[in-house]
Amino acid sequence: MAAFKSKILISGVFSHPAMRWRAFQSRLLCSSSVPGEDKPRPSMLRHLTSKIKSTGPIPVAEYMREVLTNPVTGYYVKNNMLGPDGDFITSPEISQIFGELLGVWVLSEWMAAGRPKQLQLVELGPGKGSLASDILRVFSQLKSVLVGASVSVHLVEVSPVLSLIQAQTLTGTDGQTDTQTDGQTERQTERQTETQTERQTERQTERQTDRGDEMVYRHGQTPEGLPVSWYRCLQDVPQGFSIFLAHEFFDALPIHKFQRTTKGWREVLVDIDPERPGQLRFVVAMSPTMASTAFVQSDERRSHIEVCAEGGVIVEQMSRRIIQDGGAALIADYGHDGTKTDTFRGFKGHALHEVLSSPGSADLTADVDFSFLRRAAGAEVSCLGPVTQRSFLKNMGIDSRMQVLLRNCTDESTRKQLISSYDMLTNPAQMGERFHFFSLLHPSRLAKPSPPQGLKLEKKREPAPLPVAGFTELTFT
Ligand code: SAH
Repeated sequence: MAAFKSKILISGVFSHPAMRWRAFQSRLLCSSSVPGEDKPRPSMLRHLTSKIKSTGPIPVAEYMREVLTNPVTGYYVKNNMLGPDGDFITSPEISQIFGELLGVWVLSEWMAAGRPKQLQLVELGPGKGSLASDILRVFSQLKSVLVGASVSVHLVEVSPVLSLIQAQTLTGTDGQTDTQTDGQTERQTERQTETQTERQTERQTERQTDRGDEMVYRHGQTPEGLPVSWYRCLQDVPQGFSIFLAHEFFDALPIHKFQRTTKGWREVLVDIDPERPGQLRFVVAMSPTMASTAFVQSDERRSHIEVCAEGGVIVEQMSRRIIQDGGAALIADYGHDGTKTDTFRGFKGHALHEVLSSPGSADLTADVDFSFLRRAAGAEVSCLGPVTQRSFLKNMGIDSRMQVLLRNCTDESTRKQLISSYDMLTNPAQMGERFHFFSLLHPSRLAKPSPPQGLKLEKKREPAPLPVAGFTELTFT
């Protein structure tokens, strides 16, 4: 059984007596499943088989998109999958220190940008809202730093169930919903599936500035009075100086799979298994598909690859916004730099799950290819990383923060708890080296100061840009 999606035993983690630490309890004990949601969902399998019968085998990306985010029966749409009663656990759920250090990162990048008047905190796939909540606590503790800034929170979340939990975490209420989507019937939602692709295309062509706030499907206010808004996709978030965060978000986006064959690259598809009724199987496309023609690099050396085109589009959008409006993005996930091959896997009840079995009942995930995201970001934006979670957190000062917490803590079980969560986050054998941090920055952030010109040698040099926290070891002299 795995606690996080990279194979850690949850039994070892959650049976630990130190799990009684108060901060953990509040997160881990909250109910994590929607009543009746652990039942198998034959309707997803039916939906997929009728789709395959009418159009033929479908790309793995389409299979993954349907299984995870179908508006009626999608895994993310219907479940609260995080925590000990769910399917996996993530760093923000393991320790509040994680979110606090990311809060410091957000502030340091905002300050390095010259403290713009506006600060939009944009989180993609916020889960239970724990990361945003820990970041906002840092904002509140460092209020004096943010004086004069207009701070707002923007959450991109596809799951109505999770958006409600996020609203409760961040605003203390359910937030206010857009009446058009609240309480919609199943038929309406089904119709929504059919028109989803059309709408996505429309959205891609619509101009952001024309739309105002209409894409907000839930909104509320933190106890400190900061506005919080929920959107279904990044394009709906208003433009402005933003710090984007995506923790374990990109691994949940659909991937295409391609196989090198004697006839060239072919896409892997999902088909009905003719020999096992009610079961699905992988097949290799007979001829090139649009995706296999477009997404495989000509100099590719591996014999099997996974390409997350949707992730590429999102990174492209973030990069464009960072160039236009300023800001930065921090992407944290498990992944590789263009070296791995078959990483597609399922998780259910903290154990690995066969990806094609009982679709909709388990999480599906694939390692993030950071080299692909770097390419998608384009040359205009500056990329940093990936660096390991261990290096990032150590560079952010997790050791000093731990020392302060341990110095002020006399309760033995809380101390053990702190130490075990620290170990889980930073130990190379646990999450320390499997998870990576990757950042997109405005090019001015890393620009070298221009050398003094001509006779003005005596003039003061422009100061060198401050190092980017987390990606550089900070030394104090
Ligand atoms: N960041 C959180 C949750 C990770 S799980 C954490 O680390 O604890 C993935 C999150 O992304 C969930 O909130 C899920 O509902 C959301 N999500 C998945 N696919 C999405 C999509 N296509 N658009 C928006 N949100 C999505």
